[in-house]
Amino acid sequence: MSEVNPEPAGRSVLVTGGNRGIGRAIAEAFVAQGDRVAVTTRSGGAPEGTLDVRCDITDPAAVDAAFAEIEAAHGPVEVLVANAGITADTLLLRMSEDDWASVIDTNLTGSFRLAKRAAKGMLRLRRGRIVFISSVVGLLGSAGQVNYAASKAGLVGMARSLARELGSRSITTNVVAPGFVETDMTAVLTEEQKATIKAQVPLGRYASPDEVASAVTWLAGDGAAYVTGAVIPVDGGLGMGH
Ligand code: NDP
Repeated sequence: MSEVNPEPAGRSVLVTGGNRGIGRAIAEAFVAQGDRVAVTTRSGGAPEGTLDVRCDITDPAAVDAAFAEIEAAHGPVEVLVANAGITADTLLLRMSEDDWASVIDTNLTGSFRLAKRAAKGMLRLRRGRIVFISSVVGLLGSAGQVNYAASKAGLVGMARSLARELGSRSITTNVVAPGFVETDMTAVLTEEQKATIKAQVPLGRYASPDEVASAVTWLAGDGAAYVTGAVIPVDGGLGMGH
Protein backbone atom coordinates (compact mmCIF):
# COMPACT_ATOMS: atom_id res chain seq x y z
CA MET A 1 0.00 0.00 0.00
CA SER A 2 1.34 3.46 -0.84
CA GLU A 3 2.11 5.66 2.13
CA VAL A 4 -0.27 8.48 3.03
CA ASN A 5 1.42 11.43 4.66
CA PRO A 6 -0.64 13.26 7.28
CA GLU A 7 -1.59 16.85 6.49
CA PRO A 8 0.94 19.23 8.09
CA ALA A 9 -0.10 21.68 10.82
CA GLY A 10 -0.37 25.38 9.95
CA ARG A 11 -1.19 25.00 6.28
CA SER A 12 -1.60 27.88 3.84
CA VAL A 13 -5.36 28.06 3.28
CA LEU A 14 -7.24 30.36 0.88
CA VAL A 15 -10.94 31.00 1.38
CA THR A 16 -12.57 33.23 -1.23
CA GLY A 17 -15.51 35.37 -0.13
CA GLY A 18 -14.55 34.99 3.52
CA ASN A 19 -15.68 38.35 4.90
CA ARG A 20 -19.23 37.23 5.66
CA GLY A 21 -21.68 34.34 5.62
CA ILE A 22 -20.47 30.83 4.85
CA GLY A 23 -16.97 31.89 3.78
CA ARG A 24 -16.38 33.74 7.06
CA ALA A 25 -17.37 30.66 9.08
CA ILE A 26 -15.05 28.51 6.95
CA ALA A 27 -12.12 30.92 7.39
CA GLU A 28 -12.69 31.09 11.16
CA ALA A 29 -12.80 27.29 11.40
CA PHE A 30 -9.40 26.97 9.69
CA VAL A 31 -7.94 29.72 11.91
CA ALA A 32 -9.26 27.86 14.99
CA GLN A 33 -7.41 24.71 13.97
CA GLY A 34 -4.14 26.60 13.57
CA ASP A 35 -3.91 27.06 9.80
CA ARG A 36 -2.60 30.24 8.15
CA VAL A 37 -5.63 31.61 6.35
CA ALA A 38 -5.92 34.16 3.57
CA VAL A 39 -9.33 35.59 2.71
CA THR A 40 -10.03 37.24 -0.62
CA THR A 41 -12.99 39.55 -1.28
CA ARG A 42 -13.74 42.70 -3.27
CA SER A 43 -14.68 44.81 -0.25
CA GLY A 44 -12.36 43.65 2.56
CA GLY A 45 -13.35 43.01 6.17
CA ALA A 46 -11.72 39.59 6.54
CA PRO A 47 -11.99 37.99 10.00
CA GLU A 48 -9.35 38.51 12.67
CA GLY A 49 -6.26 36.38 12.34
CA THR A 50 -6.50 36.10 8.54
CA LEU A 51 -4.62 37.78 5.71
CA ASP A 52 -7.07 40.25 4.11
CA VAL A 53 -6.51 40.25 0.34
CA ARG A 54 -8.56 42.22 -2.20
CA CYS A 55 -9.39 40.24 -5.31
CA ASP A 56 -12.26 40.28 -7.75
CA ILE A 57 -12.36 36.69 -8.98
CA THR A 58 -13.80 37.77 -12.34
CA ASP A 59 -10.40 39.35 -13.13
CA PRO A 60 -7.69 36.77 -13.99
CA ALA A 61 -4.88 39.29 -13.34
CA ALA A 62 -6.31 40.05 -9.89
CA VAL A 63 -6.45 36.33 -9.10
CA ASP A 64 -2.82 35.94 -10.11
CA ALA A 65 -1.79 38.97 -8.02
CA ALA A 66 -3.71 37.65 -4.99
CA PHE A 67 -1.92 34.31 -5.18
CA ALA A 68 1.44 36.09 -5.42
CA GLU A 69 0.57 38.08 -2.27
CA ILE A 70 -0.59 34.97 -0.40
CA GLU A 71 2.43 32.90 -1.48
CA ALA A 72 4.77 35.66 -0.25
CA ALA A 73 3.05 35.75 3.15
CA HIS A 74 2.05 32.11 3.74
CA GLY A 75 3.76 30.00 1.07
CA PRO A 76 1.96 28.08 -1.68
CA VAL A 77 -1.75 27.52 -1.14
CA GLU A 78 -2.24 24.00 0.24
CA VAL A 79 -6.01 24.23 0.71
CA LEU A 80 -8.26 26.18 -1.66
CA VAL A 81 -11.89 26.81 -0.73
CA ALA A 82 -13.63 28.44 -3.70
CA ASN A 83 -16.63 29.89 -1.88
CA ALA A 84 -17.27 33.35 -3.38
CA GLY A 85 -20.49 33.43 -5.33
CA ILE A 86 -23.40 35.60 -6.39
CA THR A 87 -27.00 35.28 -7.50
CA ALA A 88 -28.96 37.27 -10.09
CA ASP A 89 -32.33 35.54 -9.86
CA THR A 90 -35.14 36.01 -12.32
CA LEU A 91 -37.31 33.86 -14.56
CA LEU A 92 -35.84 32.68 -17.86
CA LEU A 93 -37.69 35.06 -20.18
CA ARG A 94 -36.60 38.04 -18.06
CA MET A 95 -33.03 36.85 -17.63
CA SER A 96 -30.61 39.14 -19.47
CA GLU A 97 -27.33 38.12 -21.07
CA ASP A 98 -25.66 40.04 -18.27
CA ASP A 99 -27.59 38.18 -15.53
CA TRP A 100 -26.41 34.94 -17.10
CA ALA A 101 -22.81 35.96 -17.81
CA SER A 102 -22.08 37.63 -14.48
CA VAL A 103 -23.22 34.61 -12.45
CA ILE A 104 -21.35 32.12 -14.64
CA ASP A 105 -18.24 34.31 -14.66
CA THR A 106 -18.16 34.64 -10.87
CA ASN A 107 -19.35 31.23 -9.69
CA LEU A 108 -18.01 28.89 -12.35
CA THR A 109 -15.25 30.63 -14.30
CA GLY A 110 -14.00 32.32 -11.12
CA SER A 111 -13.60 28.89 -9.51
CA PHE A 112 -11.79 27.64 -12.63
CA ARG A 113 -9.33 30.56 -12.39
CA LEU A 114 -8.70 29.86 -8.71
CA ALA A 115 -8.27 26.10 -9.15
CA LYS A 116 -5.92 26.56 -12.10
CA ARG A 117 -3.70 28.97 -10.20
CA ALA A 118 -3.78 26.92 -6.97
CA ALA A 119 -3.00 23.67 -8.81
CA LYS A 120 0.37 25.06 -9.97
CA GLY A 121 1.69 25.15 -6.41
CA MET A 122 -0.10 21.96 -5.35
CA LEU A 123 1.40 19.98 -8.23
CA ARG A 124 4.85 21.09 -7.11
CA LEU A 125 4.05 20.12 -3.50
CA ARG A 126 2.52 16.83 -4.67
CA ARG A 127 -0.46 17.33 -2.37
CA GLY A 128 -3.39 19.68 -1.89
CA ARG A 129 -7.08 20.02 -1.14
CA ILE A 130 -9.57 21.85 -3.34
CA VAL A 131 -13.16 22.39 -2.18
CA PHE A 132 -15.80 24.09 -4.32
CA ILE A 133 -18.90 25.50 -2.63
CA SER A 134 -21.81 24.55 -4.88
CA SER A 135 -25.47 24.43 -3.85
CA VAL A 136 -28.29 21.91 -3.54
CA VAL A 137 -29.97 23.70 -6.46
CA GLY A 138 -27.12 22.70 -8.79
CA LEU A 139 -28.53 19.18 -8.97
CA LEU A 140 -32.11 19.84 -7.85
CA GLY A 141 -32.82 22.81 -10.14
CA SER A 142 -34.59 25.96 -9.03
CA ALA A 143 -37.18 28.08 -10.84
CA GLY A 144 -35.80 31.60 -11.24
CA GLN A 145 -32.18 30.45 -10.87
CA VAL A 146 -31.30 29.05 -14.30
CA ASN A 147 -27.97 30.91 -14.28
CA TYR A 148 -27.10 30.10 -10.67
CA ALA A 149 -28.09 26.41 -10.84
CA ALA A 150 -26.10 25.99 -14.08
CA SER A 151 -23.04 27.58 -12.48
CA LYS A 152 -23.32 25.34 -9.40
CA ALA A 153 -23.89 22.16 -11.46
CA GLY A 154 -20.84 23.10 -13.53
CA LEU A 155 -18.70 22.97 -10.41
CA VAL A 156 -19.52 19.26 -10.04
CA GLY A 157 -18.25 18.41 -13.53
CA MET A 158 -15.20 20.57 -12.99
CA ALA A 159 -14.39 19.01 -9.61
CA ARG A 160 -14.76 15.47 -10.93
CA SER A 161 -12.52 16.23 -13.92
CA LEU A 162 -9.91 17.79 -11.64
CA ALA A 163 -10.15 14.78 -9.30
CA ARG A 164 -9.09 12.65 -12.27
CA GLU A 165 -6.40 15.07 -13.50
CA LEU A 166 -4.79 15.78 -10.15
CA GLY A 167 -5.42 12.64 -8.12
CA SER A 168 -2.09 10.99 -8.96
CA ARG A 169 -0.38 13.89 -7.13
CA SER A 170 -2.42 13.41 -3.93
CA ILE A 171 -4.59 16.45 -4.68
CA THR A 172 -8.24 15.89 -3.79
CA THR A 173 -11.05 17.93 -5.34
CA ASN A 174 -14.49 17.87 -3.79
CA VAL A 175 -17.74 19.80 -3.71
CA VAL A 176 -19.85 20.86 -0.74
CA ALA A 177 -23.47 21.48 -1.65
CA PRO A 178 -25.25 23.47 1.05
CA GLY A 179 -28.99 23.79 1.22
CA PHE A 180 -30.44 26.98 2.65
CA VAL A 181 -28.13 28.80 5.02
CA GLU A 182 -28.82 31.93 7.07
CA THR A 183 -26.65 34.57 5.30
CA ASP A 184 -26.96 37.87 3.41
CA MET A 185 -27.64 35.84 0.26
CA THR A 186 -30.85 34.34 1.70
CA ALA A 187 -31.83 37.44 3.73
CA VAL A 188 -33.44 38.85 0.56
CA LEU A 189 -36.07 36.07 0.50
CA THR A 190 -39.56 36.98 1.70
CA GLU A 191 -40.96 35.32 4.85
CA GLU A 192 -43.36 33.41 2.61
CA GLN A 193 -40.49 32.09 0.46
CA LYS A 194 -38.54 31.10 3.59
CA ALA A 195 -41.52 29.21 5.00
CA THR A 196 -42.04 27.37 1.69
CA ILE A 197 -38.39 26.32 1.64
CA LYS A 198 -38.37 25.14 5.26
CA ALA A 199 -41.47 23.04 4.59
CA GLN A 200 -39.48 21.07 1.99
CA VAL A 201 -36.46 20.43 4.22
CA PRO A 202 -36.73 17.17 6.20
CA LEU A 203 -34.83 18.74 9.12
CA GLY A 204 -37.24 21.69 8.99
CA ARG A 205 -34.72 24.50 9.38
CA TYR A 206 -31.93 26.43 7.67
CA ALA A 207 -28.27 25.49 8.17
CA SER A 208 -25.90 27.66 10.14
CA PRO A 209 -22.72 28.70 8.31
CA ASP A 210 -20.74 26.65 10.86
CA GLU A 211 -22.47 23.47 9.74
CA VAL A 212 -21.18 24.05 6.21
CA ALA A 213 -17.71 24.92 7.53
CA SER A 214 -17.40 21.61 9.36
CA ALA A 215 -17.88 19.65 6.12
CA VAL A 216 -15.18 21.78 4.49
CA THR A 217 -12.61 21.33 7.25
CA TRP A 218 -13.32 17.59 7.22
CA LEU A 219 -12.67 17.42 3.46
CA ALA A 220 -9.42 19.33 3.97
CA GLY A 221 -8.29 17.13 6.85
CA ASP A 222 -6.65 13.73 7.30
CA GLY A 223 -9.99 11.98 7.74
CA ALA A 224 -10.88 12.68 4.10
CA ALA A 225 -7.54 11.74 2.52
CA TYR A 226 -9.28 9.07 0.37
CA VAL A 227 -12.27 11.21 -0.65
CA THR A 228 -12.15 12.90 -4.05
CA GLY A 229 -14.70 13.78 -6.72
CA ALA A 230 -17.43 13.70 -4.07
CA VAL A 231 -20.40 15.98 -3.59
CA ILE A 232 -21.14 16.35 0.13
CA PRO A 233 -24.63 17.69 0.78
CA VAL A 234 -25.20 19.88 3.86
CA ASP A 235 -28.85 20.53 3.19
CA GLY A 236 -30.99 19.06 5.94
CA GLY A 237 -32.02 16.28 3.57
CA LEU A 238 -33.48 18.57 0.89
CA GLY A 239 -31.55 16.92 -1.95
CA MET A 240 -31.65 13.40 -0.44
CA GLY A 241 -27.96 12.81 -0.89
CA HIS A 242 -27.41 14.49 -4.25
P1 NDP B 1 -22.81 36.06 0.75
O1 NDP B 1 -23.61 36.80 -0.26
O2 NDP B 1 -23.08 36.28 2.20
O3 NDP B 1 -21.24 36.30 0.49
C1 NDP B 1 -20.71 36.16 -0.80
C2 NDP B 1 -19.21 36.34 -0.70
O4 NDP B 1 -18.65 36.25 -2.01
C3 NDP B 1 -18.80 37.67 -0.12
O5 NDP B 1 -17.71 37.46 0.73
C4 NDP B 1 -18.39 38.47 -1.35
O6 NDP B 1 -17.44 39.45 -0.97
C5 NDP B 1 -17.81 37.39 -2.24
N1 NDP B 1 -17.84 37.72 -3.67
C6 NDP B 1 -18.93 37.86 -4.47
N2 NDP B 1 -18.55 38.18 -5.71
C7 NDP B 1 -17.18 38.21 -5.71
C8 NDP B 1 -16.20 38.48 -6.69
N3 NDP B 1 -16.53 38.79 -7.97
N4 NDP B 1 -14.91 38.43 -6.35
C9 NDP B 1 -14.55 38.12 -5.09
N5 NDP B 1 -15.42 37.86 -4.11
C10 NDP B 1 -16.73 37.91 -4.41
O7 NDP B 1 -22.94 34.53 0.36
P2 NDP B 1 -23.11 33.20 1.25
O8 NDP B 1 -22.16 33.20 2.38
O9 NDP B 1 -24.54 32.96 1.46
O10 NDP B 1 -22.65 32.11 0.15
C11 NDP B 1 -21.32 31.66 0.02
C12 NDP B 1 -21.28 30.58 -1.04
O11 NDP B 1 -22.20 29.54 -0.69
C13 NDP B 1 -21.73 31.07 -2.43
O12 NDP B 1 -20.97 30.43 -3.43
C14 NDP B 1 -23.18 30.62 -2.50
O13 NDP B 1 -23.60 30.45 -3.82
C15 NDP B 1 -23.12 29.32 -1.74
N6 NDP B 1 -24.39 28.88 -1.18
C16 NDP B 1 -25.10 29.67 -0.31
C17 NDP B 1 -26.30 29.22 0.20
C18 NDP B 1 -27.12 30.02 1.16
O14 NDP B 1 -28.25 29.60 1.46
N7 NDP B 1 -26.66 31.15 1.66
C19 NDP B 1 -26.83 27.90 -0.17
C20 NDP B 1 -26.00 27.16 -1.07
C21 NDP B 1 -24.83 27.65 -1.54
P3 NDP B 1 -17.39 40.93 -1.64
O15 NDP B 1 -18.79 41.32 -1.95
O16 NDP B 1 -16.71 41.78 -0.62
O17 NDP B 1 -16.55 40.70 -2.85
